Amino acid sequence: MLTRRKLLKTLSSLPVVGGLVGTGLLTPQMIQAAAETPASRNFFKELGLRTFINAAGTYTSMTGSQMPKEVLSAITFGATEYVNLDELQDKVGERIAELLDCEYATVSSGAFGAMSIGMAGVLSGMDQKIVTQLPDTTGIKNEVIIQESHNIGYSKALTNVGAKLVWVKTAKDLEKAINKNTAMLWYLNANTDQGEISREEFVALGKKHNIPTFIDCAADVPPVENLFKFTKMGFDLVAFSGGKGIRGPQSAGLLLGKRKYIEAARLHTPPRGTTIGRGMKVNKEEVLGMLVALETYLQKDHDAEWKLWEDQIKLISDSALSVDGVETEIHVPPYANHVPSLKITWNQNKVKISAKEARKQLQEGHPSIATVGGEDTIGITTWMMVPGQERIVAHRVKEVLENA
Ligand SMILES: *Cc1c(COP(=O)(O)O)cnc(C)c1O
Repeated sequence: MLTRRKLLKTLSSLPVVGGLVGTGLLTPQMIQAAAETPASRNFFKELGLRTFINAAGTYTSMTGSQMPKEVLSAITFGATEYVNLDELQDKVGERIAELLDCEYATVSSGAFGAMSIGMAGVLSGMDQKIVTQLPDTTGIKNEVIIQESHNIGYSKALTNVGAKLVWVKTAKDLEKAINKNTAMLWYLNANTDQGEISREEFVALGKKHNIPTFIDCAADVPPVENLFKFTKMGFDLVAFSGGKGIRGPQSAGLLLGKRKYIEAARLHTPPRGTTIGRGMKVNKEEVLGMLVALETYLQKDHDAEWKLWEDQIKLISDSALSVDGVETEIHVPPYANHVPSLKITWNQNKVKISAKEARKQLQEGHPSIATVGGEDTIGITTWMMVPGQERIVAHRVKEVLENA
């Protein structure tokens, strides 16, 4: 048995820990020990990459969220053995369905992947011939009805696998658009209040016409209740991002809902080849990571976390307000990214800097801070920060505005 010191010495002479994984040289315990050891190499620095404080949110371009240590341990553990991929997905699907009190579930490659395989499953059912035929939808129902106000681009996940989109405005339009080629109705939770059809009404229309309904809830955790809400409301399929509020692997997601659609969706996923979903592979490490992220998230003290975010936002707001001419607004988006958020604006006659330039200075300063914003606002959230970083952000925001 290697001692921990000897192991670390061995590891430090290797390019990456992964070099030994899979050779049978490491036990899970050793890998665990290695995972808990701070990297002796700064990989980002070696690559010439600048890291930053994420005061923006869960953006794919900023590499999403950070996984808690429970998830990292699960991923590291997953790397130590082989299992059958289908059996793993079967068991994890059952476990997630139990945790979220829904009929069935599977781990997908992000919410986008969940939408693609879910759509593919609805189109094919259990018909193996159609599975290999997609995205060619000759001879099958292929129309998906969507509200015009729900068009933010992610419906590409549906057209990628062969669906044809039909746009409507009202419930009346929707019923008129239904025909023998209608395969599914798709809803974007983030734009709930921008459309004319409520979620309940949408589900009812699906049931009335016996057409499956799918809701994209990618960025709708928190609140934690949303993980249960939409399957209970009656949506046949529900997609969540794994790497946003749930803090699982950034490339993982959840597809929840009716067993018959999820089993059909699985026909499109690896290890099966010659399918539209073959490139949407989720490895065993990510499947385990997703499960443990969900368990960890469900057990969290959500009230305490919310209070922390509120306090952090107030700290940054107060700091910005100490500069003459600055105004702030604390708000919580009702749908998607439902977390305490800060908007900072200022009187350009008193604080002589554009929002764009102020954000650039935050980004280019030390440490670098990523924010969001428009023509005349700096937008900040704290949920993707490491606690404590809010003090640096509060200080830098004040400094940039004060020195303008
Ligand atoms: C982030 C997002 C997606 C894509 O989710 P991934 O997990 O990155 O695949 C889809 N829809 C909406 C509304 C999103 O916010």
